[in-house]
Amino acid sequence: MRNKPSRQFSFDFEGADNPLRERLWGGAFQILFEIDAPSHNRKEAASLMRNFVAAIPAPSKYPVGVSVTERLESVNGVDAAEFASEGLPDQLKNTSIIFVSGRGRSVDEMVEALESRRALGFRNVVAVTGDGYETDSGSPRFSDSIHAIKVMSEMDAFFPGCVVNPFKYLTASLFPQFFKLVKKINLGAELLIAQAGWDIVKLRDLIWFLDSRELVVPVIARTIFLSQDRLNRILGGDIPGIYISRHLEEILKEEGRHGSGQFTAAQWRRLQFQVAGARAVGCSGVQIAGIDSPEHVATAVSKIVSALEEFDSFQAWFSAYSAYVAQADMAPPDYRFKLYQNSLKHSLDTVREPASVMPLEPSVWEKARYKTSRVLLSDAGEVYSGERKITKTILTGCLASCRRCRLPETHFICPMACPKGLSNGPCGGTKIDGSCELRPVECVHAKRTRLAAWLNELDLLEEKYIGPVE
Ligand code: SF4
Repeated sequence: MRNKPSRQFSFDFEGADNPLRERLWGGAFQILFEIDAPSHNRKEAASLMRNFVAAIPAPSKYPVGVSVTERLESVNGVDAAEFASEGLPDQLKNTSIIFVSGRGRSVDEMVEALESRRALGFRNVVAVTGDGYETDSGSPRFSDSIHAIKVMSEMDAFFPGCVVNPFKYLTASLFPQFFKLVKKINLGAELLIAQAGWDIVKLRDLIWFLDSRELVVPVIARTIFLSQDRLNRILGGDIPGIYISRHLEEILKEEGRHGSGQFTAAQWRRLQFQVAGARAVGCSGVQIAGIDSPEHVATAVSKIVSALEEFDSFQAWFSAYSAYVAQADMAPPDYRFKLYQNSLKHSLDTVREPASVMPLEPSVWEKARYKTSRVLLSDAGEVYSGERKITKTILTGCLASCRRCRLPETHFICPMACPKGLSNGPCGGTKIDGSCELRPVECVHAKRTRLAAWLNELDLLEEKYIGPVE
């Protein structure tokens, strides 16, 4: 018998008309295959998707569906819902997830995209902010996923989802992720997709963090079936927010030394351990990227089902996993922060040992800048935003004339110093050293978190929603 999820879901749920929500809350382990909406040629891609979907077997015990993501490859990419409405049979609409990305969209356009999802009959919608991109015509445009979550919650027509990246190894990177996650859940996110990573300890950190805060939200762990090409792209830094440790890199290179057949065989086994591991630590399902042919999807389902049967308890999975990874170190050598000690040494019901947390301390300069800003700019939200522009620029790095100044709401860290203009917390793309996905400087939300900790105002990072401005 497999472990019961540590996180107890209520069976008295609303929205019984939504099979995905029903299954997740009913405790069924969900298998989702990730399909990217194409950057061009929607009709041909929709036909490929129909072939792909037709090849998905339907194991009775484990429901299978798809997640349609968008705008990962190109800012001119096709809208995921329009693509899915052509490629997905009706019976899969309510069991599949459609993403909505803020990449290249204003908040108004994001709202339009949500309206279109509702009109097309999609209810399970996960909001992301999207990866950075280059543009010839001024700054790239983003709208924060948090606004979409709020809008979805107000529309009351969706099973709204959000994403989080738990694969962060610095306190100043991980905590802002989790604080923003709490804010998203408070605003209405009911489903959570965890970014892909191979360090199961970090997935368990996430599950235990949610438990510690009594946040009962099903978590779907994203994982990637690696090909040589995908591996090279991750190692080359082309896929923000995804990390492969040096030790895992060596193992993968060794697996590739004996030809593509052996490499693929090794990746099937890795996928089995990842999926069974996600369930063992309390996730409610997996979203698998990198399976892109009808032949592979049938193999994947069969391998996953056999792994879920083989590792039917935390202990069964953990013993086999320990032998499989041996001493492989999944964390970076220099940054190793995790929330709990020895979390994979214990079964789900044992005592959790929180790790000691290094206090987050702003530098002398950061404190001085904050204090000066508070004196000079405390009314900046109430007056014309162009006032005291030079002072703002010197003290806060203010770059733009927003219609409404948010500095007093953001500990005087200018949201426009974030290349995506995020004011409610970070994206998932910070690099392993805490630097921004798009610039060689520390993520502005790490700075803000240090200030909030010093001021004893961390609760603001979870509770205060900062509305969008143009
Ligand atoms: S500053 Fe932080 S939140 Fe903004 S784009 Fe860079 S990594 Fe993402």
